[in-house]
Amino acid sequence: MNFNLTDEQRMWRKAVHDFVEREVKPKAHEVDESAQFNWDAVRKMGSLGLLGLNVPEDYGGAGVDAISAAIAIEELGWGCGSTALSVCAHNGLGCAPITLFGTEAQKERFLPSAASGDGGLSALALTEPGAGSDLKGISTRAEKQDGEWVINGAKMWCTNASIADFIVTLVRTDPNIGSRSLSMIIVPADTPGLHIGPPEKKMGLKGCPTHAVTYEGVRLTADHLLGEEGLGLKQTLIVLDGGRIGIGAISVGLAQAAFEEALKYAKERQTFGKHLADHQAIQWMIADAATEIESARLMIRFAAWLKEEGRPYTKEAAMAKLLATEMAERVCRNAMQIFGGYGYSREYPVELMYRDARLMTIGEGTSEMQRMVIARQVLTR
Ligand SMILES: Cc1cc2nc3c(=O)[nH]c(=O)nc-3n(C[C@H](O)[C@H](O)[C@H](O)COP(=O)(O)OP(=O)(O)OC[C@H]3O[C@@H](n4cnc5c(N)ncnc54)[C@H](O)[C@@H]3O)c2cc1C
Repeated sequence: MNFNLTDEQRMWRKAVHDFVEREVKPKAHEVDESAQFNWDAVRKMGSLGLLGLNVPEDYGGAGVDAISAAIAIEELGWGCGSTALSVCAHNGLGCAPITLFGTEAQKERFLPSAASGDGGLSALALTEPGAGSDLKGISTRAEKQDGEWVINGAKMWCTNASIADFIVTLVRTDPNIGSRSLSMIIVPADTPGLHIGPPEKKMGLKGCPTHAVTYEGVRLTADHLLGEEGLGLKQTLIVLDGGRIGIGAISVGLAQAAFEEALKYAKERQTFGKHLADHQAIQWMIADAATEIESARLMIRFAAWLKEEGRPYTKEAAMAKLLATEMAERVCRNAMQIFGGYGYSREYPVELMYRDARLMTIGEGTSEMQRMVIARQVLTR
């Protein structure tokens, strides 16, 4: 076994870290307070490869390995939860389905612009007002009329919808509920009949736009179908396996950032004649956080390594997501505790990290769904 990053991965990590430290982290507070997406930084990410992490170089992407992609998303999470989630969803949910299942023509049409940073980002619309975890229950309908697809329905909680050039949409193509009744369709954002609702008012991640989306007679030519008709659910589960590494990586980044803030504060603040860091109760929180961050990071990189090797990684991605997201919540919570009253203030950074981290055990499959996936895998072996 070799736990070292390659030279290339180390250089990549440093390049992304330096960029995030310069362009992303200093804006995190403002992004949260103003609920404005950080386009200034994101526009610059195209040339660095951050908007086409898994997109092959032939289509203008960086085509980095899965560990390097996880490293980049962790660094973004370290800088700003909102920006990280948008970029993560763009790469892992919007671009990934086209990279994995798209035709040559679809890849040429959608990927180069998405990876460049010159146009908009991308999104994936699975969740509906009446169905989230149980995706088999979605009711957004796509029907064939005169050789074209006509979509009617409503989606909920679509990350990036208002800043996307296209939304990959999971639709029902067979009215009978069954494992082959769903399909994926690429919906360009300017298609008539596609309506993006106002930004959702959220606890955190305020600079990452989330919207309800409605489809009113959205009409698209047959070549917008992504992958095979009837394989939408299977394709979605494959995409979500990769997405879970991303959400886990953001969580590690958020936890790392909160940990660093808490460590600094614990060495500065004095109570009862000594620094907080000299109290054993605080040391235990610090020791637990350091241990948990490191183990989650290892698990994320292990799942990414399996993915890169082309080996099954459904179970490991679910484990990594479960571990990392629940860890981040604990670490951010304890970082606030170390800050005492200041931790609860919006003038200090850790309450934002705590609010941002809270989503991670919910989005892209709740902790309960991860446990279901893991249990199913363990019990059927
Ligand atoms: C900020 C944000 C961004 C998001 N971005 C996207 C996006 O880009 N695209 C997208 O499609 N979706 C997105 N989502 C939606 C997200 O993926 C769903 O909210 C999530 O999958 C849960 O679905 P739900 O909200 O319908 O909850 P439900 O499925 O209704 O579940 C409610 C609760 O019941 C639990 N539960 C459900 N079934 C079971 C069971 N069988 N056993 C035990 N417990 C169960 C769940 O774990 C959860 O705790 C986003 C959500 C948020 C908040």
